[in-house]
Amino acid sequence: MTGKAKKASDKERAATRLIHGGRRSDAWWGLVNPPICHGSTVLFDNMAELEEATNHPFGRTFYGRMGTPTNFCFEEAVAELYHHRHAPHAVATSSGLSAVTIALTSHLKAGDAVLMADCVYSATRRFADKFLQEWGVEVIYYEPCVGAGIEEFINERVKVIFLESPGSLTFEVQDVPAIVAVAQRHDICTIMDNTWATALYFNPLAHGVDITVESATKYIVGHADAMLGIMLVDDLEQAHELRRHAMLRGDCASAERCYLGQRGLRTLLVRMAQHQDNALALAQFLASHDKVARLHHPAFESCHGHDIWKRDFTGASGLFAFELRPQYQKNNLAPMLDDMKHFGIGYSWGGYESLILPIYPHKEQRLHDWSKHGMMVRIHAGLEDAQDLIHDLDNALARLAMS
Ligand SMILES: *Cc1c(COP(=O)(O)O)cnc(C)c1O
Repeated sequence: MTGKAKKASDKERAATRLIHGGRRSDAWWGLVNPPICHGSTVLFDNMAELEEATNHPFGRTFYGRMGTPTNFCFEEAVAELYHHRHAPHAVATSSGLSAVTIALTSHLKAGDAVLMADCVYSATRRFADKFLQEWGVEVIYYEPCVGAGIEEFINERVKVIFLESPGSLTFEVQDVPAIVAVAQRHDICTIMDNTWATALYFNPLAHGVDITVESATKYIVGHADAMLGIMLVDDLEQAHELRRHAMLRGDCASAERCYLGQRGLRTLLVRMAQHQDNALALAQFLASHDKVARLHHPAFESCHGHDIWKRDFTGASGLFAFELRPQYQKNNLAPMLDDMKHFGIGYSWGGYESLILPIYPHKEQRLHDWSKHGMMVRIHAGLEDAQDLIHDLDNALARLAMS
């Protein structure tokens, strides 16, 4: 079997898993989809059962904050999708950001240090800089493409290495196996934000990452209509530990959102394929446009870490950025972006619709001087017709003029 054929059959299995995961139709009188189970109080038959449940509150209904059967269906389906040598466990949270912050605080306390990739999502960075630092955790940023060079940042206070690959603004692809190898040698917990790739294009757990987090708000929900997060670990006790922290923090994903999450999963594979194709078509168009200086798309050689993407990932999602030639400045952007027909201006991504956004990585990142680059624009390729999107972008770039 060639490598390619193996990937194809892996994909087939993922497709089937996406359809069947977590449905448990037999428990719902044969309904295809799980119902939305509303609930706070759970009744116990007697004192013995109450005591047993209090001692072992997870893996069952206990109290609404710890999840309803709809939550468990969603968690089961996501866990199945991240299946590798092990069968992992998933914990749903109220948002992607709460998944990030619960994972971080579950492994950090005052006096510890955390190594953060300099390309992390803006709100993750703000949490690290505001909350973690103020609570006595030292936050050390590292160049995302550092690879095995992460070793020189290690000391006995470092308890967590946080990765996000590719970075969701600047798209550096990290050498996850190299960083994980160093972390394992020093018994340091690794947490990776896998929102860009989803389990379909990269499985951090299969590469030895301890905790995978994903903003399910993006591709899993996929329709821009709910906030939802997910944390995954291989070990059941670790999953319980994450649940304890979520519970302490008062975090819970609602049954409605988990319902939307599990529904989104059913079409994730076909949507991702279309996001990928449309993004590649748009990137190809931009690569040869004379007003564009550079692409930041992991499938293109101009992207930092492209070779690592080729080695480790099985696909690319719909999010990427491009850089305008240096003569174009911020004040040139409004005529270009204001009148687009198919691209919305707005935060978030992963929904069915195309989005475009000016981004300013030099305001956040410290280790690479992005102010030396041209204006950056981020695109989320939606599921529209690729030619319509290219046409819209072509017209927009024609409106871009030096002021
Ligand atoms: C959006 C996003 C988050 C936060 O997720 P929310 O669901 O918006 O809270 C975290 N990481 C990445 C990479 C994201 O894009």
